[in-house]
Amino acid sequence: MTDCLFCRVVAGEIPATIVFQDDAVVAFKDITPQAPMHVLVIPRRHIGTLNELTTSDDALVGRLVRTAASIADEHGHAASGYRTVFNCNADAGQTVFHIHLHLLAGRRLGWPPG
Ligand code: 5GP
Ligand code: ZN
Repeated sequence: MTDCLFCRVVAGEIPATIVFQDDAVVAFKDITPQAPMHVLVIPRRHIGTLNELTTSDDALVGRLVRTAASIADEHGHAASGYRTVFNCNADAGQTVFHIHLHLLAGRRLGWPPG
């Protein structure tokens, strides 16, 4: 989708600090980090919200989650801990409608989130 911010990141039309990419997934630093590490892991293919996922996306979602875990491990956060979050729609505060898994690490994270 040409009017989707994260599709434009995938296409290289908007600069981003990419920390990992493969044939299905791109991970890049959040522009407004909420923790010392704040990475967004997204599918290359446009999916607007979690509500649009189907069974055919199960492997893709697994790749998003395992990519986040791998990045956390590479940066030394596996043992100390990290948080992964998908926000969905207004009440969760979703602002970019191309699904993205937030990976937050490097500080003690409060629970429950606000
Ligand atoms: P949401 O609120 O939809 O769960 O998360 C959207 C995230 O995208 C926010 O954390 C926000 O800081 C980040 N973001 C918004 N625009 C850009 C951008 O142009 N580049 C990058 N790298 N992150 C962005
Ligand atoms: Zn998109």
